[in-house]
Formats: sequence, structure tokens, C-alpha cells
Amino acid sequence: MNHHDALTAAGLTDAEITGGTLSVRSPIDGAEVAKIHETPADKMPEVIERAQKAFKQWRTVPAPQRGELVRLLGEELRNAKEELGAIVTLEAGKITSEGLGEVQEMIDICDFAVGLSRQLYGLTIASERPGHRMSETWHPMGPCGVITAFNFPVAPWSWNAALALVCGDPVIWKPSEKTPLTALVTQRIFDRALARFGADAPADLLQVVIGGADIGEALVNSRDVPVLSATGSTRMGAIVGPKVQARFGRPIMELGGNNAMIVAPSADLDMAVRAIVFSAVGTAGQRCTSLRRLIVHHSIREELTEKLKQAYASLTIGDPRTEGTLVGPLIDETARKEMASALKSAEAEGGTVHGGGDAKGVEGGVYVSPALVEMPRQTETVQTETFAPILYVMGYDTLEEAIELQNDVPQGLSSCIFTLNVREAETFLSAVGSDCGIANVNIGPSGAEIGGAFGGEKETGGGRESGSDAWKGYMRRQTSTVNYSSELPLAQGVKFDI
Ligand code: NAD
Repeated sequence: MNHHDALTAAGLTDAEITGGTLSVRSPIDGAEVAKIHETPADKMPEVIERAQKAFKQWRTVPAPQRGELVRLLGEELRNAKEELGAIVTLEAGKITSEGLGEVQEMIDICDFAVGLSRQLYGLTIASERPGHRMSETWHPMGPCGVITAFNFPVAPWSWNAALALVCGDPVIWKPSEKTPLTALVTQRIFDRALARFGADAPADLLQVVIGGADIGEALVNSRDVPVLSATGSTRMGAIVGPKVQARFGRPIMELGGNNAMIVAPSADLDMAVRAIVFSAVGTAGQRCTSLRRLIVHHSIREELTEKLKQAYASLTIGDPRTEGTLVGPLIDETARKEMASALKSAEAEGGTVHGGGDAKGVEGGVYVSPALVEMPRQTETVQTETFAPILYVMGYDTLEEAIELQNDVPQGLSSCIFTLNVREAETFLSAVGSDCGIANVNIGPSGAEIGGAFGGEKETGGGRESGSDAWKGYMRRQTSTVNYSSELPLAQGVKFDI
């Protein structure tokens, strides 16, 4: 199927994909696939006002009914899985199964949110005063701005939106300017769910705004957008986070990662090799959770490096739509330049680079062979997130040293250990172990399930989305005390007789 057919199969019209000012290119072959219409910056106050209006109505709909809308969204996503997955592949360059996997993640979080819509539990708290009852209730917050990155064009939106919607918050979505088509297709899918839901739903529960940082900033700076979730680089988060905080909004930051795996002497090496290759070269190293640092016990370092070199040599690189391809394109030429520059710096710092050059792919796209880099130590280049398939390999002697290396980077997203030794595994997961938001044993750092809270510490931003109790980020907590006695005792025994 050619690019145009894929777009129309997903429901986009010629009027939507032509005649605009934002050029959208497919990383598969670098071709321009659409010219879409940007949201004028001066229209943003109207967009936010419409979301506020929608909020006033949506917050009065009981949460389990709001869940029904998300159930319908999940159904519509199931029906549109192939078409939307194909647009993820077209626009982000992911291999077909990863494009479909991203849509599956949207379906999964919808299912989770439907159940959640009947479980937005508060608390009953023992009061110190007789004849009093204390409780804690969760209420809708207001419009939720969602800014997303190119590399996961739809799943992180759904982690936010499915929860926000059951929590009573309308959503305004600003997708990456590199991947706006997936958002337009998702809006279509959402509109179908909304039409089936009927009259109880306000029209502007989901609005997609198209543009770059200036359009994002309108959400970041508005007091009428109390929750602002931003997924992207630490550079972006360093600008956005303080601005949201300065207006006392609630930021949910999902920023860069620099994820490591420790491979201990007892590790099942065959399993480790499979986990390493998937997480280091999958999505061409363009996942926030991609494996970027391998910390291997000296006793097995040579053996593991050899196995990895062999596995890397057998990788199929090329057109992500072709069955059997494991490594698709980088997003653009800038990404190739950043990869080349990181490899050069690593070499200057004493590293030995294997691979990392240009690879044969589709004419016009940017295809590289993933790089393995043997490093003498954890240098500045290793401590920096380069959004490309580079895996730095370092050695260690003691577990303590390995954990120190693992933690000695500014980012804190995902981490893992391969070991069959329960003492090592538990130490890694303990208070003196990994400092990351995600820590795994005998599983790679990427490919998280939606049931757990997703996010990381330090420069990763501290936000949590998706499962567990991440829903609390989209609601406001209210503590209430009810006095059903005929006295008016004050707390802490204070006397104030008038
Ligand atoms: P990016 O920071 O360039 O852009 C992300 C989004 O932020 C885009 O929509 C962009 O338009 C917007 N933006 C940029 N500056 C802004 C500003 N000043 N105000 C408002 N919005 C602004 O990131 P990218 O290149 O699209 O994505 C790659 C990065 O995202 C990597 O660092 C990766 O680790 C990170 N990421 C993190 C997660 C996570 O969950 N932690 C998930 C995916 C990607």
C-alpha cells in the first residue's frame, strides 16, 4: 500500500492532508506524505475555553458512565487497529508489529480505565472528635493538556487520555509536529466512540491541536489547563516543567532515559542476549526505555560481547513494513548526525566502536546499523541520552560497583539485572539498588505493561502515568469532616469560648 492509500484507509480526507503549512514526512523514504493545517496560535484561547465548557458538563456525568465512553473507545480502537498501526509505521517508522503493539497498548489502557471508573476510591479516616466523620474524596481537576513525542505517537496519549476521561477531565492533545497524522486518525476513532456514547458527552472532550512548541506553550502557560502532561526530551521538560509550576499547575513529566542492564556471572546468557538485542535495537534505539548501557561482570564480558556481535551481524535492517525486518529507519537526518557525533565522542574517550555506519534501506530514508561500543569507563558521552541504537558496554567487579555505575547518570527511567542469584536480584530492587522508576529482573528495560505506573526519577521528570494509582494525578483530593453531633469541639483540644 502506498502512503496516500494508507492515510485514506485510516479515514483521513484529501482536504485534511493537503494544502496546509506543516509538512509531514515518512521516515521510511523521506517522502512528504501530507501538508496539514496548523492550529493558529491565536485560536488557542478558544480551544481552552471549549475544553473548560466541556469540563463543566463532563464532571457531572457519573464516573462509571464516563468509563462507558472509554469502553467504546477501546472497541473502536480494536476495529481500527490495523489502520492506525499502519499510520504509526508510516509516520514514526516502526516495524509493523511495533506499530500494532502501540495500538494494543491503547486498547489495554482503555480496558484498565473502564475498570478504574468504578474504583476511584477515597478513604474514610478516623476523626479525633466524637460525633465526627472524616473522609477523602477525589474530584475531576479540569482540562488536561497532553504534549507527546514522535517516538510513541499514540500510546502515551492514551495512558493520559483514558485516565483523564474517566476521572472527568477533557483532553487537549498536542502531538509531536513530526507525527501529527496518528493524532488526527485517533481523533476520528474517538469521535466514533463519542457518537455512539450519545448526548451525555460534550462535544469537545478531545481536541487535537497541531503545531510546534508555541502551540504547546499555550497549554503550558494557561491556568485553565490545570494538568499538563508532557512527554519528550529533558531539554523540553526543563522549559515546560518550571512554567507549569510557576502558575501552580500540575505537571506530569515523562522525559529522557539512559537505561542500563547489569549482567551478573550467573545470568542465563541466551535469555540476556535476546533481551539486550530487543531493547537496544528495537524501534532503532528510539524508545525512551531503550537499553543504552550494558554493565557486564568482567568474567563474562568477552563471551557476551562476542555473542552480541554475532546477533547484531544477523539483524535485518530496512523497510519497517516488510515482514522479518527488525530495525527500521531513524526519524530523520538530524538523528543520524547525533548518532555519528556520539560515536565520535565515545571513540575520543577511549571507546571501541563496532557497527554504527549507514545501512541499506529504502531510498530516501535514514537507515543505520546499530552500534556496540566497548567503553573503558562511564564517560560523559555514555551519561548522555543519544536517541539512536548505540549500546555502550562496560565491565564491573562487584555488584556494589555495578549498581553505582547504573545510578551514576542524570536520568532515572528504566533499569534491569540479569541474574539467577536471589541475593543480587533483591539487592538490585532494594533501597540501595536501582534508583529508577522501573527496575526489572531477567527482563529488559523496555516494553512495560500498562498495569504498572510508568515514569522515572531525576531528569526523567518524576511523573507517573498509566496503571497503579497514576489516576490520582488527574484528580483533586478533598478532605471533608462532617460533624453530626450537637457540640462543636475544636481539633487539638483548642478552647475558644465566645
Ligand atoms: P521533544 O522534546 O523534541 O518534543 C516532544 C514534544 O514537546 C513535541 O510535541 C514538541 O513539539 C513539544 N515541545 C518542545 N518544546 C516545547 C516547549 N517549549 N513547550 C511546549 N512543548 C514543547 O522530544 P522528541 O524528539 O519528540 O522525543 C524524544 C524524547 O522523548 C527522548 O528524549 C525520549 O527519551 C523522550 N520520551 C520519553 C518518554 C517517557 O515516557 N519518559 C516517552 C517517549 C519519549
